[in-house]
Amino acid sequence: MNLDLLHSKILSCQLCDLALGRTKAVPGEGPCPAGIMLVGEAPGAEEDVTGRPFVGRAGRLLDRSLGLAGINRSEVFITSVVKCRPPLNRKPKSIEIESCHHYLQSQIDLVHPRVVGLMGNVAVGALLNLQGVTTLRGQVLQGRFLVTFHPAAVLRNNNLQEAFVSDLKKIKEMGSGDQ
Ligand code: SF4
Repeated sequence: MNLDLLHSKILSCQLCDLALGRTKAVPGEGPCPAGIMLVGEAPGAEEDVTGRPFVGRAGRLLDRSLGLAGINRSEVFITSVVKCRPPLNRKPKSIEIESCHHYLQSQIDLVHPRVVGLMGNVAVGALLNLQGVTTLRGQVLQGRFLVTFHPAAVLRNNNLQEAFVSDLKKIKEMGSGDQ
């Protein structure tokens, strides 16, 4: 399967209850292959309307932070653990994460990144079955996963900004090079 076909399946997916309340599914976007992949939690209100990942306030913070780390967003594949917005932006449920997981795994297989930045506990839990971003951040696990904060957490607590950019710089180093 190629990425376009995978994303067309996501756009019409009905595998979990999040399909009932979404406006648009948000598969993710970016080059394929890509050296860097970033994985967030779930689409928010603006993502749900536009069908694009990280375009709201957290997305704008992510864009600024990528710039500070010397990363061009157009070089990064960006997605999230679940592809449809949870009602009222609640955390995705385990059953929703499990239902959506094969899409994320297929994206990792197809995009074939050198480094996957896991932004927040939901991403760390979904891909590594671990919790504790505050403790794990900045660490490289299983050779290609780098744990960092979710941009929404950085929005809520500006004290995390420096560490977040530092993690993105590490991601840049790991992701550079020809595919
Ligand atoms: S969240 Fe994932 S599994 Fe659930 S409906 Fe959306 S695309 Fe399908």
